[in-house]
Amino acid sequence: MFRAAAQLHAALAGQQLISSDFRVPRFATLKLGGWTVTEVVPRGKHLLMRLEGPARAGDGGIPAAPDRLTIHSHLKMEGTWQVYPPGGRWRKPGFTARCVLRTAAADAVGFSLGILEVVRTSEEDSVVGHLGPDLLGPDWDLAEAERRIRAAPDVPIGVALLDQRNLAGIGNIYRCEACFLSGVHPAAPVSAVPDVAAMITDAKVLLEANLGAGRRTTVLNRRGAVVGRSSGLPGYWVYRRENQPCLKCRTPVRRGVLAKATGTEERDIYWCPTCQPLPGPA
Ligand SMILES: [Zn+2]
Repeated sequence: MFRAAAQLHAALAGQQLISSDFRVPRFATLKLGGWTVTEVVPRGKHLLMRLEGPARAGDGGIPAAPDRLTIHSHLKMEGTWQVYPPGGRWRKPGFTARCVLRTAAADAVGFSLGILEVVRTSEEDSVVGHLGPDLLGPDWDLAEAERRIRAAPDVPIGVALLDQRNLAGIGNIYRCEACFLSGVHPAAPVSAVPDVAAMITDAKVLLEANLGAGRRTTVLNRRGAVVGRSSGLPGYWVYRRENQPCLKCRTPVRRGVLAKATGTEERDIYWCPTCQPLPGPA
């Protein structure tokens, strides 16, 4: 999401929209031609495109404060935003397009978006305010993220890390990999995790190591540098490595599913049964 936002920001920030086309019933008649994109920012897995309305005359000839709107989208499982040269041929079927934003320099098209809505920028909190601290945001707060996770001690740590109300930004890959790096079984309850803050910090390091272009990987060296891209090693410690040998102990990696919990999607987990034993009676 961070990469998607950076790409959209580079293409759209400072640009005036020539036209907008919202292909969802609620906003089908909304036209934002003449509005200027000021910035595109990620908030957890949410994307916020902020826009400023055309200048208006105010009282006594002093320009009025511009209107500000935010296009809020969420990719869910299938969604993607793509940037094309003006009039460029789309790489996704047209019927999956939900939002088309056109500027003189680029077309930005959101396909199969899980959420698409337009809110006043001053009311952004109503759509993303429920999110916990953002791992990549300027307001990152490790203590607050840990406090939210520890507030539900019986929840499996693998579920807690994925719950965006605790902290925003960890997807399934980083959830699985952070558990492996701490030697914690993803199904272990939060109360059994010795160092929640260390797991969160690992996830943050992995996220930050993958902000650039290139194949995503979590296999870093001791100084935090990425080694998994070029060394011939797999890109991940356990993620999608079912039945393949653990990179530390050679035990075959296992795959399973954590029970669905409120507010989170059910996703596969991967773990090494030797490096990440389940605490307590089996
Ligand atoms: Zn192992």
